[in-house]
Amino acid sequence: MAGRSVTVHHHAYDAVIVGAGGAGLRAAIEVAGKCRAVVISKLYPTRSHTGAAQGGMCAALANVEEDSWEWHAFDTVKGGDYLVDQPAAEIMCREAVDAVIELERFGLPFNRTPEGRIDQRRFGGHTRNHGEAPVKRACYAADRTGLMILQTLYQQCLARGVDFHDEFQVLDIAFGADGEVTGLVAYEQATGDLHVYSCKAALFATGGFGRVFKVSSNAHTLTGDGPAVLLRRGLPLEDMEFFQFHPTGIYKLGILLSEAARGEGGILRNGDGERFMERYAPTVKDLAPRDMISRAMVTEIRAGRGGGEGGDFLHLDLTHLPPEQIDEKLPDITDFVRTYLGIEPKTSLIPVQPTAHYAMGGIPTNVEAEVVRDARGTVVPGLYAAGECACVSVHGANRLGTNSLLDIVVFGRRGGARMAEYVASGGGAGGAAPPVEGIEDETLAAIERLKSSTGAERVADVRAALQEEMTDKAAVFRTEESLAHAQSAIAALRDRYRDVCIDDKGGTYNYDLTEALELEFLLDLSEALVVAARARTESRGGHTRDDYPKRDDANWLKHSLVRREGGPTGRLEIDYKPVVGGKYQPMERKY
Ligand SMILES: Cc1cc2nc3c(=O)[nH]c(=O)nc-3n(C[C@H](O)[C@H](O)[C@H](O)COP(=O)(O)OP(=O)(O)OC[C@H]3O[C@@H](n4cnc5c(N)ncnc54)[C@H](O)[C@@H]3O)c2cc1C
Repeated sequence: MAGRSVTVHHHAYDAVIVGAGGAGLRAAIEVAGKCRAVVISKLYPTRSHTGAAQGGMCAALANVEEDSWEWHAFDTVKGGDYLVDQPAAEIMCREAVDAVIELERFGLPFNRTPEGRIDQRRFGGHTRNHGEAPVKRACYAADRTGLMILQTLYQQCLARGVDFHDEFQVLDIAFGADGEVTGLVAYEQATGDLHVYSCKAALFATGGFGRVFKVSSNAHTLTGDGPAVLLRRGLPLEDMEFFQFHPTGIYKLGILLSEAARGEGGILRNGDGERFMERYAPTVKDLAPRDMISRAMVTEIRAGRGGGEGGDFLHLDLTHLPPEQIDEKLPDITDFVRTYLGIEPKTSLIPVQPTAHYAMGGIPTNVEAEVVRDARGTVVPGLYAAGECACVSVHGANRLGTNSLLDIVVFGRRGGARMAEYVASGGGAGGAAPPVEGIEDETLAAIERLKSSTGAERVADVRAALQEEMTDKAAVFRTEESLAHAQSAIAALRDRYRDVCIDDKGGTYNYDLTEALELEFLLDLSEALVVAARARTESRGGHTRDDYPKRDDANWLKHSLVRREGGPTGRLEIDYKPVVGGKYQPMERKY
């Protein structure tokens, strides 16, 4: 391309892992030493969002109470409002026990029982004997479980000599004539250079996209780059309409106060001081699944029973818990309350509101983490996805707390193992990774266009307008009217995006440019979410339609697949594929 201001470097690997959170690192451990592999991460690995995970990772170890992986599987299927593919959930729950023990052997400092076993605590939706009562299933390291997983896996990667390209952001992917992966394009934040990777296989583990909403527990960097790149290149995304709101985000900020707070005995109260969850989920109360509690909270607020002058929040009450229990089990989140709200959680009620938390949908895969391109499950040769960016689907319409840290290690491992096998068998064309030509041209053009734009729009303004719209019109409750509004607003924001101008024209840590590129990913994924949500005329899990308040198994026990037809700027079309059932028949979800 003439007049380039960007240097392009070329690399050849067998396998590239995109993302260094829990899923990417666990995959890397599996691939290490088996082929020429590299992990590319837009963040320094230990800054990945897995490090923010607080409450725990579940496995039916039965260290504290009787438990079984079958009960865990049942809870996962019911918690997911029966949109879960049951064979995938069974694999995850069965392999959970070994996954925790492996992490312990890797050196993870779990909390211990007095007898020295891994301690376990309660979490929403996890029950004994098919819903009888809450069960202690979450293994944890205080309220820093994700941080400990991330550090432990990173150390294991270093010990195995895994190659990392830190602060490189993947922006595009290339496929060969048979649809096989041939290469990736990444932007190096420190220099502004582009890197072209030719490879036989790639595994996407790029995390979630909670930043499509305004109030979110997700970091600024969670912009869904992986799913957005694949959507542009014609691959479908599954179940995008299902987005989880976590009940206890710090009021207005969205910063998460883990469900562990309720697992340890915390209670939700409305503005009248009432423990309102007794009315919505009489058996498990404050430990009902997140979709139910978030709906209950918004319902309380709408009915005028919120707290404070505006009546737009509820309270998390920890004041009855022994102070030493708070210090030992919930040290970080109670510090967040002191830091961000300036109140003492041992003596004061904490203002909370539902916060955008987790994407149930994402890149469709089978149980080996192989990406599939259609409703028949046709595998894309050499392409894998694991973790929050993927949809396997173990979470269905609503994920249970502590099932994501589990998902990332179980399916990260499976994806890494399958990718190593694929490479060993010759992969795609066989032999060395094929050279790729010119796959960076579109990315170069996009960067040059943004740097040379003299438009009047600012990235921050367009992003704020998008997040406001999504929060207003496509959050906990939705209607045809609100979603239609959101869809046209997104189209208008796309027009504004074309007129975006950035101030920094340089190459070194140009976050102006990075945020502009990420904003386009957010626009793409918001559109996919809204289009799928508009089509689904029922309420299920994290997707609640005020105009279709009932679950409709006769018509909607199926996964959506949204795909862009006609190139990166084409229309979104929807297809569906059946849910893979098993021994648990759909029934009314009561807790
Ligand atoms: C505050 C909070 C608390 C939570 N607590 C729990 C809990 O207690 N239990 C539980 O089970 N779950 C919890 N979750 C959910 C869980 O932490 C996440 O779903 C999970 O950690 C995601 O892991 P991941 O590996 O898929 O992605 P992440 O850890 O988000 O990692 C994504 C990686 O992808 C990289 N990346 C992204 N885009 C690109 C790109 N374009 N190019 C290159 N690299 C890229 C990033 O640098 C990063 O390394 C919590 C979530 C939050 C937000």
